Amino acid sequence: MTKAILVLNAGSSSLKFSVYELASGEHLHLLANGQIEGIPGAPHFKVTDHDGNILLEERWDADVKMDHAYSLKQLSGFLRSRYQALDLLGVGHRVVHGGARYAAPVRVNAAIMTELESFIPMAPLHQPHNLAAIRAVSAINPTVPQVACFDTAFHSTQEPLAQLFGLPYAYFERGVRRYGFHGLSYEYVAAAMRQQQPEIAAGKVVIAHLGNGASMCAVHNGKSVASSMGFTALDGLLMGTRSGDLDPGVVLYLLQHEGLDAQQIEDLLYKRSGLLGLSGISSDMRVLLGNSEPRAKLAVDYFIRRISLELGALAASMQGIDALVFTAGIGENSAEIRRRVCLEAAWLGIRVDDAANDAGKSCISSADSSCSAWLIATNEELMIARHTLAELTR
Ligand code: AMP
Repeated sequence: MTKAILVLNAGSSSLKFSVYELASGEHLHLLANGQIEGIPGAPHFKVTDHDGNILLEERWDADVKMDHAYSLKQLSGFLRSRYQALDLLGVGHRVVHGGARYAAPVRVNAAIMTELESFIPMAPLHQPHNLAAIRAVSAINPTVPQVACFDTAFHSTQEPLAQLFGLPYAYFERGVRRYGFHGLSYEYVAAAMRQQQPEIAAGKVVIAHLGNGASMCAVHNGKSVASSMGFTALDGLLMGTRSGDLDPGVVLYLLQHEGLDAQQIEDLLYKRSGLLGLSGISSDMRVLLGNSEPRAKLAVDYFIRRISLELGALAASMQGIDALVFTAGIGENSAEIRRRVCLEAAWLGIRVDDAANDAGKSCISSADSSCSAWLIATNEELMIARHTLAELTR
């Protein structure tokens, strides 16, 4: 029997999954990964193997009632037919919010699910889907252990000072505090850094997770010290469709004078702002970099500006910076964005090596840089698989 761990990342319109085989010596080997997109809508199911070869590609009828329960039935059918001898040890889930309570992954049960549901208002666009996938797995296989891995957990090492807002303290006690997100990505990158460059990883590092969702984190000796995202995944940097940092007075103004209700404001801030809202063209960085319209340029310029400001603030939170690391879709793939961020950060001692940056090398700063710059590909799924295995074998 092949011992395996299934990793699920359930979003509003997609279910991403990875299947890891537990090879000898507790080594996790990727067997297959893929996604079911268009839930609900025009569903598309694609699975590739470790080398990117397509194992399955199907398009379904748009009339099919798609939800996570249906998607998981299809996925489970695929796994059964493809890997007859699969012994599923457990399922690991990306769960965006663990509140103030969960500082580590946890094996879910009914009581924990009820508590995780209470965090939905703090992550309304992610948490309900993460939890729906856990329920859907239970419905298919009630005995398989399931582990929730939180995007907030990595940041639980932050001092209270880094988690505060300037509101009456009672709100902090009631959970209105900065949680930070993308923790699974930061944890993976910090671990990779420790393996590749242990001396630098022991110092003051800012990791920039620049994807469709984007944030930055100050990591000192492997521990989160401060992050750009706060109470929800809206705060901090400009993102694909999310506003990032905003004067709270703007929300009041929209409510009181622009006639928007809470639902409309949520839709505006999460889905119609960011690169998309500023450019009026696209949320996709590739499209904007290839577009000569002034508003495309304005959106990219503001994206860079926000990163530069956040970098200064995070460096201040550690009283210095030894290294800057880029990761996620934009951070890993766009030499132009990395170069521009590094140029803006010359005052911190970063000197970009253009040839290394263009070639996508691991170290992209020159030898005379007093603060080095790096490119490390993130792997949140592998981090979840590692946590799930650790939790099941504890
Ligand atoms: P992620 O959410 O991490 O998958 O990242 C998605 C973002 O990465 C999108 O904005 C993409 O446009 C961006 N991206 C992917 N490849 C490139 C590239 N070669 N150049 C610029 N942006 C890219």
